[in-house]
Amino acid sequence: MEHKSGFVNIIGNPNVGKSTLMNSLVGEKLSITTPKAQTTRHRIMGIVNGENFQIVYSDTPGIIKPGYKLQETMMNFVRTAITDADIILYVTDVIENIEKNTAYIQKLNQSKVPVLLLINKIDLTNQPSLELFVQKWHNLVPLAEIIPVSALKNFNLNSILKRITELLPVSPPFFSKDELTDKPERFFAAEIIREKIFFNYQKEIPYSVEVQIEEFINTPDLLRINAVILVSRDSQKSILIGKKGIALKKTGTQARIDMEKFFNKKVFLETFVKVSKDWRDKGSVLKGFGYQ
Ligand code: GDP
Ligand code: MG
Repeated sequence: MEHKSGFVNIIGNPNVGKSTLMNSLVGEKLSITTPKAQTTRHRIMGIVNGENFQIVYSDTPGIIKPGYKLQETMMNFVRTAITDADIILYVTDVIENIEKNTAYIQKLNQSKVPVLLLINKIDLTNQPSLELFVQKWHNLVPLAEIIPVSALKNFNLNSILKRITELLPVSPPFFSKDELTDKPERFFAAEIIREKIFFNYQKEIPYSVEVQIEEFINTPDLLRINAVILVSRDSQKSILIGKKGIALKKTGTQARIDMEKFFNKKVFLETFVKVSKDWRDKGSVLKGFGYQ
């Protein structure tokens, strides 16, 4: 049997469940997921290997109009994800307004690669309103195949997998067959901390934070991780640390517990908060963080 392989890129508006979907399809929590928009900042690959196929999923940041430089670089990830896809998974949900994002819908209609249009979160709706959604999406993107799913409840994900394996081009694998992602371990350590910050802090704090792993030392029985949390202003630093350091301690403990699950090892985590004035708008700083 011939080997099939290709890039399946997950694209859509913020908060529709793209990262949840990738995690469910890959079977590992590679991408952090929160109820807040713009959680995902990078393009993150998740690889699924079968004997005769390799699917390279890419999770991407939600489509937004950039307001600052960090967001511009986030949209660069989205743009490349459109051009290098073998299959596009366009994710929407049963909550968002269908008329949102008409510019992007036009791009989908001009796409030369197959588009699977996934209506996510069907656990939140009923059959008649879902049928209405399907009909409306069919009118908007006539060439796309529409698949209603629930990424969170794992509903109908097999239909996606089946269609993808049918549509994948014949090709040797792009990555070694035992690889799960393109990102190094320390990337996931930083993302786990960011996820806890998204959960524990309000307003602009999660959007003003970047996490850098300064030390990642793997010993036979312990993983020693030293993380610097960067904020853009002094006032954000005191909010992050909280009274008597309680807020930061809580975040650190939650992150450590998740890291121990992810790395399957005991973790010793140290965190420091540093101010890097307006880092979100400084090209050189962003480059250092892997945003191009
Ligand atoms: P992204 O911004 O598109 O990557 O969305 P996330 O994956 O971060 O998910 C945004 C929110 O939607 C999170 O609170 C998820 O738990 C929730 N969510 C994702 N998929 C589903 C689903 O199938 N059903 C329900 N009810 N919630 C979902
Ligand atoms: Mg996401």
